[in-house]
Amino acid sequence: KIEFRHVVKRFGAVDVIPDMNLVIDDGEFVALLGPSGCGKSTSLFMLAGIYLPSGGELLFDGRVVNEVEARDRNVGIVFQSYALYPHMSVRDNILFPLRFKKTPRDEALARVKAVAELVRVEELLDRRPGELSGGQQQRVALARALVKEPELLLLDEPLSNLDASLRLSMRTEIKSLHAQLGVTTLLVTHDQIEATTMADRIICMRAGRIEQVGTPDDLYLRPSSLFVAGFIGSPP
Ligand code: ATP
Ligand code: MG
Repeated sequence: KIEFRHVVKRFGAVDVIPDMNLVIDDGEFVALLGPSGCGKSTSLFMLAGIYLPSGGELLFDGRVVNEVEARDRNVGIVFQSYALYPHMSVRDNILFPLRFKKTPRDEALARVKAVAELVRVEELLDRRPGELSGGQQQRVALARALVKEPELLLLDEPLSNLDASLRLSMRTEIKSLHAQLGVTTLLVTHDQIEATTMADRIICMRAGRIEQVGTPDDLYLRPSSLFVAGFIGSPP
């Protein structure tokens, strides 16, 4: 269970996130939806341990993790740009999150093979990221996020660099990965179709605040404000 309790994030004098309260249950697939600059990536970076909250508490299973370093959290992340290491092979990219764990080498390599098969990049392990298509890089980034068997998977606009047809098929693939693994997943997106087709629950954000939380139907049929109605659009 993931919980934000009165979480604040301040940059300089600006409260980008003034007071965030949210609970995400184990195994849920939630989407953090909102316009550019509303604080989606900032929220995700706090969960990843990349940004420290300026106030409040962030809890994983009731444990405060504010001060826990990124590498000591059991979190996998796919960044807005996939951020693969260009000088490393695909294999070493996927291995990278295991570097601080005392996983024996052959066990680590077996894990890499297993996640590579899961996202279907097992043929590409000896290549460099520069030699891959956008969709393939996206899969490698997913494998890297999954190799630690994270309790929380964070996806920051993972499909934004893909063309329309690839975006469509990757939506289905990510959904089926989630169904297979049952890992709690937070998808950050500004695309309402992505959020409504992929998530069990949508958190709609506006200027650092949560406007509404609910199922895609809730937000479609019972928007709490004109902002949500306008952002989600009308029912299909
Ligand atoms: P996008 O959809 O464009 O990625 P976002 O919802 O992810 O937007 P954030 O990146 O979380 O938005 O940014 C929220 C606000 O915080 C923005 O006004 C941004 O300028 C500010 N911000 C984010 N990171 C920093 C930082 N490291 N230093 C100062 N301000 C920051
Ligand atoms: Mg962002």
